[in-house]
Amino acid sequence: MTKIKNLNLIKGLAILSVIVFMFLVFQKMLPAYANMSASQVTVIASELNVRENADSSSKIISLVHRGETFEVIQTKNSWDQIKLPNNQTGWVHNAYVSSNNNIEATVKAPVLNVREQPSLTSPIVTTLKMGANITVSEEQAGWAKIVSSSGAHGWVSTYYISKNTQQSVSAPTNQATEKNKSPEETRPSVNSGGQAKKTSVQALKGKTIVLDPGHGGVDIGTTSIIGTHEKDLTLATAQAVEQKLINAGVNVIMTRENDTFISLKQRSDLSNQMHADAFISFHYNWSNDPAVSGLTDFYYNKSKDSSLAAAVLNEVVNTTGLKNIGTKFDDLYVLRNNSQPSVLIELGFLSNKEDDSAAENAAYNDKVAQGVYLGLLDYFS
Ligand SMILES: [Zn+2]
Repeated sequence: MTKIKNLNLIKGLAILSVIVFMFLVFQKMLPAYANMSASQVTVIASELNVRENADSSSKIISLVHRGETFEVIQTKNSWDQIKLPNNQTGWVHNAYVSSNNNIEATVKAPVLNVREQPSLTSPIVTTLKMGANITVSEEQAGWAKIVSSSGAHGWVSTYYISKNTQQSVSAPTNQATEKNKSPEETRPSVNSGGQAKKTSVQALKGKTIVLDPGHGGVDIGTTSIIGTHEKDLTLATAQAVEQKLINAGVNVIMTRENDTFISLKQRSDLSNQMHADAFISFHYNWSNDPAVSGLTDFYYNKSKDSSLAAAVLNEVVNTTGLKNIGTKFDDLYVLRNNSQPSVLIELGFLSNKEDDSAAENAAYNDKVAQGVYLGLLDYFS
């Protein structure tokens, strides 16, 4: 290399460093704008597969971990396309990530206290009514930091709000008006013949149904033969059921919407406090015998619970095509302490190859959702 060429190289490097420096200064000056433009998600599952396409049978191209944050490029159905550190992109199921952006939500309790701090002992700032629209900016341990459409700021219990998902932006409004309708408009018709099927579909409108995804947080539940935690499957299943029921005009209340620990008492208390028309707890089963398979559900109080348990199990068996091992009595906390009609369903054995491969296919949640929907229609009609 000659001296002249070296000089040109130094000149070039100097210009380049000025450009880089100015770029960094510019970025520092505008951090707020930079953050606002990018939609981000944080992984909440301990490990999460990143797939080539928005489909659980598509090729796994990477693995991400709890706490890692990624930019979202686009959303399709229940999938987010994320940008990986190597600039590659891939798809993750949105049941296993939490959105870092503001989320629109609706109040689901008749009266909801807004508090200064995320604590039951913190002073009440204001109250919100059923159906009020709020924006959630942050969540911690069962509390959501919100701003109401009237501008009130504070913290509310996440148990009494429902996040508006993309597919159901208009649903909460319908639910709110449903509450104000006269009983005649929501009562199932007793007409016979051709009217029967049509009117029975109305049977779910305005019902309050508590969905309880089993386990959560430190309580992972059982683990499938391919390493999936029960708590992640129950949440994804309950969210599919939630969507199906919201579309049918049901006032759905989730005991948890993300990977957090909640006690059994909190679960049954919520059902009691909300005077739920039905409470459904979702679980997946495990046996030391890998040959054991099939679906079962449990009731506690025969007269209060068993017809609900039978209706739900029959329809879920029909829609999933898995084996029916029957409705049984069991002394389970969430049922025993529940004043409302309640059932706990075990949606297959994660220890059994056939059950597990069915249960861990994305289509399974939709089949369960359809079954629960039909089972509730049978029960309420
Ligand atoms: Zn369980």
